[in-house]
Amino acid sequence: MNFNIRINGIVQGVGFRPFINRLANECGLKGWIRNTNEGAEIEVEGENKDGVDFVWKLMERRPPLAFIGSVRISQGKEQGYKTFEIIKSEEPVGCRTLISPDIGICPDCLAELKDPSDRRYRYPFINCTNCGPRFTIIRDIPYDRKNTTMADFSMCSDCLEEYGDIEDRRYHAQPDCCSICGPELTLIGPDKEPIGGDPIEELKKVLMGGKIAAIKGIGGFHLACTADNEEAVKTLRQRKHRDKKAFALMVRDTETARRYALVSEKEREALESFRKPIVLLKKKERGSYSYLSENNYLGIMLPYTPVHALLLEGIDALVMTSANLSDLPIVYKNEQALKELSGIADYFLLNNREIERRCDDSLQWIIDGREYPVRRSRGYVPYPLNLKIDRNTDGILACGAEQKASFLLTKGKYAFVSQHIGDLKNIETFENYTAQISDFRKLFDIEPSLIACDLHPDYMSSVYAAEEAERSGLKVVKVQHHHAHMASCMADNGLDGICLGIIWDGTGLGTDGNIWGSEFLVGGFGGFTRMASIRNIRLPGGDKAVMEPFRCAISLLEDSGIDSTELFPGESSDSIRAMLAGDINCPRSSGMGRLFDGVSAILGITDIASYEGEGAVLLEATAGDSDGIYPYSVEEGDAMAFDFREMIRCICREKSQGRDISLIAADFMNTLVKMAVEISIKIRKLKGINRVVLSGGTFQNIYMLRRITDALESEGFEVFRHRNVPANDEGICLGQAMIAAYGERLCV
Ligand code: ZN
Ligand code: ZN
Ligand code: FE
Repeated sequence: MNFNIRINGIVQGVGFRPFINRLANECGLKGWIRNTNEGAEIEVEGENKDGVDFVWKLMERRPPLAFIGSVRISQGKEQGYKTFEIIKSEEPVGCRTLISPDIGICPDCLAELKDPSDRRYRYPFINCTNCGPRFTIIRDIPYDRKNTTMADFSMCSDCLEEYGDIEDRRYHAQPDCCSICGPELTLIGPDKEPIGGDPIEELKKVLMGGKIAAIKGIGGFHLACTADNEEAVKTLRQRKHRDKKAFALMVRDTETARRYALVSEKEREALESFRKPIVLLKKKERGSYSYLSENNYLGIMLPYTPVHALLLEGIDALVMTSANLSDLPIVYKNEQALKELSGIADYFLLNNREIERRCDDSLQWIIDGREYPVRRSRGYVPYPLNLKIDRNTDGILACGAEQKASFLLTKGKYAFVSQHIGDLKNIETFENYTAQISDFRKLFDIEPSLIACDLHPDYMSSVYAAEEAERSGLKVVKVQHHHAHMASCMADNGLDGICLGIIWDGTGLGTDGNIWGSEFLVGGFGGFTRMASIRNIRLPGGDKAVMEPFRCAISLLEDSGIDSTELFPGESSDSIRAMLAGDINCPRSSGMGRLFDGVSAILGITDIASYEGEGAVLLEATAGDSDGIYPYSVEEGDAMAFDFREMIRCICREKSQGRDISLIAADFMNTLVKMAVEISIKIRKLKGINRVVLSGGTFQNIYMLRRITDALESEGFEVFRHRNVPANDEGICLGQAMIAAYGERLCV
């Protein structure tokens, strides 16, 4: 027999060809394998049963980093091959191969790094086919050394030999190098001069002495100090102008992580996986390490480069926070680091391997044993998502939202979702956003034929969409924000058809021109009906209310017929009351985030936020153990509306009676859960829908996520949560793309 096997997927630079070579030998087959534009092509000859066996084993045992999108097998005429060989790659034509994400250091390389007899002993750029930088070093495709930032280094004879040896773990490992031929570290001191000696050992000394360092990583720089030194962490906060928002830690290993936080089996797996995300872990002791994180969780990751592994040999844990100032993109070039971080870092650990594009650390919860992403970036991007929809999805550019911006480009049934970009209101971030879109178009060879963006015309992503449409003459599909959230969660779960979406977040423009945010939508990719929301909250001062939750509190109190002067005396509060009384600059919003903010301020948890959503984060962190529920009502009408006024009155009464606010906070959230279930049941009666998708930033509140899921499931609903993209606005682009495809195109 003769089998020709064409594989579409990420099979290059992941040790696939040596694997196939070994497998063919094992099965007693002859033939060849070569890389193609889509992945790889294999031809094998031998006994029929061995060929079938080969295909089974190929799928079963494929290397961990290989991503196989599709396999096409055809039978041909026997050629009489005498051997099995790896042959020269097809020349690139149009269609291009997929690119691997950056992979954390593998156990084999880690062992060599620590083995005094190995020729790469303590070499800080050790890597192999199974690990190392990929996405962040690629300049052009195909993925060959000459098209990466490693092109600046030519391999020594030892490295070349490994590179060419099919039996070697470094066979065709494009970033392969050693201390003879590869990149080097330089430690720069406070006087901007290089420091002699071993850069790693010298840096360890100054970190242990309480200094702050900027460390070049895979997709950008980190700012680091030892995590156990509270003074150093406080200095870093001051210099970075980051008062309270939690810092991520890098700890030596999982055992060390257990010193700080609880680590379940699934969380351990996530920490140790080759993607090496930051995993949000519950603190071992409530209230501990409050200088690192003011809530009940610590974001922890393990060393993912050899530099990290060496640094953490003598240090338990480092604060490792993205090196950027407030909302600017992460710093990723040497010169830029020395200039822009000079007021923050005392020392700079640089190296001469260029980072081609920025990529921040990824952030994951592990909920019920499964990843629940908060930020999908390094280690995940640019793995494509598979779109399961009966429409032509090719060539869509979905521009995302604004504050947690991301975009995606589609090619056939693949969606390439961008890395974390940040807040587009910042001009540098916006420039990075447009640069990344051009970058993705080139890397994946995609010429967009349709554009999708948010309905809000003032989002910078919508402005970009309009300009791009003007330039290209392409059509723009404007997608309502919460509809996009809903479609995103559906696509994330491979759902089609009609669902109920409970979409709770901060803000998003509604189809009626008002600000929405606590939505019960019924529909699918083709459209939706707004079935219910919450009573509008007036926001005195508009957007100012987002960072000043006490404004929401006064608004809620006044709306509920409670004199707010008792809880919020003083002139600034008086002026808010005057705005409300005169209805001056008080836009209406049904944002769940604002209800959380308001209640948080009423409870005295957060009057003024140091980052958006702090009120909600701290309210969740405060919540204790209680199963109480406050009274409330649901107004019937065109769309139902949750009326919270009775609840607000009860909360105030209990607070003035001195009830523990941790119990009030819990009962507030319990009430929202009860309301969600009650309204869902009403909608089920009306529409007969049993599938519920949960999306929107509020569902980063794990208390709410768990309780709503459990309560809906116990009422017989089928509940779906995000798996691959975040519930927050970073996941929006996926929904936009699906809705645009559905509304505009039939399958061809
Ligand atoms: Zn390795
Ligand atoms: Zn070498
Ligand atoms: Fe949103």
